[in-house]
Amino acid sequence: MQTEVEAAGRRVLQRLEEAGHAAYFVGGYVRDRLLGRPIHDIDIATSARPETVMALFPDSLPTGIRHGTVTVRVDGHAFEVTTFRVERGYSDARHPDEVVFVDRIEEDLARRDFTVNAMALDRRGRLVDPFGGRDDLAARRIRCVGDPMRRFAEDGLRLVRAVRFAVQLDFAIEPQTWEALQACRATLRPVAHERIADELDKIMASPNPGRGFVLLFDSRLFAADDLAPYLAPEAWPDLTVLAVPEGVGTRWALLAVLLGWTEQEAESFARALRFSRERIDEVTTLVGQARQACPGEGATRHWQQLLLAHGLLRCLALADLCVAREAAGRPNALEQERAAAARLRERVRAIYATMPVHSLKDLAVDGRDLLEAIGRPPGPWVGRLLRELLTRVACGELPNDKERLLEYARERGDGT
Ligand code: ATP
Ligand code: MG
Repeated sequence: MQTEVEAAGRRVLQRLEEAGHAAYFVGGYVRDRLLGRPIHDIDIATSARPETVMALFPDSLPTGIRHGTVTVRVDGHAFEVTTFRVERGYSDARHPDEVVFVDRIEEDLARRDFTVNAMALDRRGRLVDPFGGRDDLAARRIRCVGDPMRRFAEDGLRLVRAVRFAVQLDFAIEPQTWEALQACRATLRPVAHERIADELDKIMASPNPGRGFVLLFDSRLFAADDLAPYLAPEAWPDLTVLAVPEGVGTRWALLAVLLGWTEQEAESFARALRFSRERIDEVTTLVGQARQACPGEGATRHWQQLLLAHGLLRCLALADLCVAREAAGRPNALEQERAAAARLRERVRAIYATMPVHSLKDLAVDGRDLLEAIGRPPGPWVGRLLRELLTRVACGELPNDKERLLEYARERGDGT
């Protein structure tokens, strides 16, 4: 089967070939196509130099021109076209000192991390596979291209990538690669946390994040890293339930809860990984909430209060987190736990839907109304009283009617 994107990609290869250059599909696209997995983007490698690529494709952008990458747009689809290259140096195990353009695809494939990522496919469907990538796909294993000790020493990020691909594809890590991975821990240290976070996030989003973290913990990959206090535990519980929550942020919060981190620890971890502000906030709040309480289906009033305090999305995530945590260490099927989480989320949605108000702006009175009605100087009592009115209206104990609310407020006085 050929999709529209693939057809457009073939036209890119064709135009390059017709101008006298070699051009191939490379990387994840080739791997995923051979596996019959869904494809998301298509990378192209060519012998043409970046200036030539830009000249051949008028609709192109020099996205990473220093590394030889040009983004070209053909028939509405974008492709990253990268000149065949090798990397020399790696003196700091982080950035190659120098990118050198080369003429042969085999040289370009040799710099790639794993055999299953080091295949190229031309537009006629011919596979270039100098390192046995197809055999490793069939054997379902992740193996470094060349000497694993050397390859990991060149770029420490590859250590985490090995685990990432193993869990994404449900492959084993080939024994020599696994041994080298443990021996090369120290090379992870200089790698930027943002890059590590991207890979860890992909592990967390995969169908079996628990397996990924067990591989990371078993190999003690992070033992020499700044992240060791979080990611090199001596012992850990069964992590299978990490696959229960839908959201990646919720899964991170669950990991924190399973490993017994406090809210502060979860926050410093999220900061250390340079997560987005939103993600930091999400993880921290969820951990804080989950450590306090995990209300069940019957706890209507508790959910109403949580919904007022944190909003619907956070509460749905909290429902997921609570069910998963309860399930930890229980030998129930994941499917069953996911169904239980879906039920609790439905329940929380239903509670939300029946609440007549969801925030102060829905309330029939505001601070000014209270000041006028009660005639006391402004102070913290106004906010307190508003929150109380909001809770009572949300829970159905008072109608959302201005007169009735002011009457209640007058009786209540300033709440002191
Ligand atoms: P995904 O499906 O996640 O995009 P991918 O295989 O395309 O998987 P990318 O991170 O997009 O992974 O990288 C594209 C290709 O570039 C890889 O398949 C690999 O050949 C090569 N590559 C990427 N990062 C490295 C690295 N750190 N060391 C060596 N080769 C790498
Ligand atoms: Mg990719």
